[in-house]
Amino acid sequence: MADAKVVKIRKIAAAKTMRKLMADHFYELDQAAKEGQPKVAWCTSVGPAELLRAMGFVVYFPENHGAMLGASRIATEAIPAANAIGYSPDACSYMTSDIGAFLQNRTPLSDAYDGITAIPRPDVLVYNTNQCRDVQDWFSWYGDHWKKPVIGISCYRGVGDVTEVHVNGIAGQIEALVDPLEAVSGTKLDIDRLRETVRLSRQCSDLWKEVLETAATRPAPLTFFDSTIHMAPAVVLRGTQLAIDYYNELLAELKTRIADRVAAVESERTRLYWEGMPVWGRLRDLATQFLELQTCVVASTYANSWIFTDLDPADPFRSMARAYTKLFIVRTDPVKERYLSDMIDFFGVDGIVFHDAKTCPNNTNCHHGMPQRIADRLDVPWITISGDLNDLRCYSDEQARTQIEAFAEQLATP
Ligand code: SF4
Repeated sequence: MADAKVVKIRKIAAAKTMRKLMADHFYELDQAAKEGQPKVAWCTSVGPAELLRAMGFVVYFPENHGAMLGASRIATEAIPAANAIGYSPDACSYMTSDIGAFLQNRTPLSDAYDGITAIPRPDVLVYNTNQCRDVQDWFSWYGDHWKKPVIGISCYRGVGDVTEVHVNGIAGQIEALVDPLEAVSGTKLDIDRLRETVRLSRQCSDLWKEVLETAATRPAPLTFFDSTIHMAPAVVLRGTQLAIDYYNELLAELKTRIADRVAAVESERTRLYWEGMPVWGRLRDLATQFLELQTCVVASTYANSWIFTDLDPADPFRSMARAYTKLFIVRTDPVKERYLSDMIDFFGVDGIVFHDAKTCPNNTNCHHGMPQRIADRLDVPWITISGDLNDLRCYSDEQARTQIEAFAEQLATP
């Protein structure tokens, strides 16, 4: 194996700005929820955030909170409380940890931010099932609890080519949200404000894409583990100038790293692709192990999921429909495999780690022969790590560590 030496994760300076942005985001939500104005909309991570923002809602993303529950490791203690009221241990652990933590009166927000004691109570909950059905079930539980409207978009699944039929169908569903949202917000949709929000969202997406693509450089200036942290503004603040300013700052820092040949992983010798959900409670451990192995996880489907190159302010509803239907998770295996082939080529990937997340079959792509097909076609080795996004009872540190070490050594051996 590689020489054992003490390694430290190289910090990204822009993280300080991001922490402030996230704090402001949560304080704004907390204040709105306490004062009743502006109205609070809950939104799924790839839901119609642009529409909600344009209609004056402050927008809260429960999946972001789910990731915080995972990273803080509150999740594993909270999940049994949701199991006890009938939510299966096999159901999405974002959902079960979020509901469980609520039942236990816990949130990582109160540890991170003075004065915040609870998640922001919604005025309306808006989902898009493009990811999975779990988000609808999740929002429905809170909608029932608080007696608030739960509305959303039921997406096509297993989409090959995205056609006008798909776009028209989803665009119609997004437009149909306007009336019920106006009833909650008390204001009329201003189409110019929607166009402007879509423009800002597209700009955020383009910058996030540029940030991620810096990792095509050798050595890569950032890792998948960095991107799981720095994607937060692309998720929760897309459609705002704040996110754009942030990614301009981050991009400038990464370009300086490239110019100075500053590597995220010192003496990078192997480059991997991460397919599937992060293991939120083990991000630091995994990042450190890959550092020790001089192996950089340069790219992932997960972080790329907030790139929406189809957003177009000239055609806001239809372009949102197209962007949110082109999402990787919505597509057929042949489309996904073409996408992964392009990523492997673009980032110069030596091997793929498939994360088999126990409670998220939707973001798990190693169950139906995909790794073998990609390996046959591109001669790219792979491993499957069994685990979960939030439920650490499904993850064996020992087993994952051994598998990763053997894989990295195999790839580094000429
Ligand atoms: S895609 Fe997976 S992790 Fe995300 S909400 Fe759905 S089941 Fe949960």
